[in-house]
Amino acid sequence: MREWESNIRKVTPYVPGEQPKRADVIKLNTNENPYPPSPKVAEVLRQIGTEPMRKYPDPEARMLVEAIAHEEGVSPAQVFVGVGSDDVLAMIFLTFFNSQKPVFFPDITYSFYDVWADMLRIPYEQQPLNEAFEIVARDYDKENGGVIFPNPNAPTGSLLGLDVIEDILNRNQDVIVVVDEAYIDFGGKTCTGLLARYENLIVVKTFSKSRSLAGMRIGYAIASEELIRYLNDVKYSFNSYTMNQTAILLGTAAAEDHAYFEETRAKIIATRENAKTELKKLGFSFADSQANFLFATHERIPAAELFAVLKEQGIYVRYFNKPRIDNYLRITIGTDEEMERLYEFLREYVVTRE
Ligand code: PMP
Repeated sequence: MREWESNIRKVTPYVPGEQPKRADVIKLNTNENPYPPSPKVAEVLRQIGTEPMRKYPDPEARMLVEAIAHEEGVSPAQVFVGVGSDDVLAMIFLTFFNSQKPVFFPDITYSFYDVWADMLRIPYEQQPLNEAFEIVARDYDKENGGVIFPNPNAPTGSLLGLDVIEDILNRNQDVIVVVDEAYIDFGGKTCTGLLARYENLIVVKTFSKSRSLAGMRIGYAIASEELIRYLNDVKYSFNSYTMNQTAILLGTAAAEDHAYFEETRAKIIATRENAKTELKKLGFSFADSQANFLFATHERIPAAELFAVLKEQGIYVRYFNKPRIDNYLRITIGTDEEMERLYEFLREYVVTRE
């Protein structure tokens, strides 16, 4: 081996869901919102032109931070923004998971956590979900270097109640506990109300799902002013201008349009509840998802086969070829029309395949 090769930081990267080149597909594979962003976002986009591109952006993204703080009912000093919650989470791993003890997260969860831990040489231990794919609070009672989990969990969609989150916090008062609420707006209750009592809690959210802005890359963390200062110190030691000015302006418009946010998330929740009924009729079972996706397994037909035949039809869903979940499909909730196309195809396929 060449000498320098031993010094390379070799990593196995995260593999994002496919973004098909064809425009005519029904895209139910990366948990995007099927509805466009708020009309206020479109209006601001028309007004701003290219001017925000010429100058460096506001490194503090003050406007956006203030709009988020207002929406969340916290002080702007409690908000940290980044390029999608992936950026925010990576900064959190870098800043707070700096112990010799292992960081704990579930065995079935957002598959970026182990990638960041590996890249940053952070030891970790995955705690198995139970048979019903639920997080078990007492598994998080051992000595650790920090705790992170999504709520609702991904890709299962299972939601923990605030009592269980508080139980996990009580068992972990000496480490940072991160609750990744990427999907909380689709039926869960945010745990930001616990911030006043738990100074070690960080709540992470995103504009990618419930605000229809996955392509703009906007995410944020809410925590105590002290933890946000530590995060900013690391950010400014890495790259002062993580967020571009267009994202700051459009994200602010999205954050301010509370009525549109309520309207679109209610539509997705209604479509999801209907999807539970339709997919059950077709022989699928799943945990009772409170996210904008269902994690479903079929009573007879292997998930890998369904994934392939759906793709042939131009219906993209997500399949993870991993232990415990290789017979499941993660199906993002689309519009009613998109979901109807999915049921139509499945009705025919499930019957004729016998
Ligand atoms: N957390 C979870 C649980 C997710 O599923 C995702 C979406 N892939 C993210 C965070 C990151 O989303 P984004 O970077 O678009 O905010």
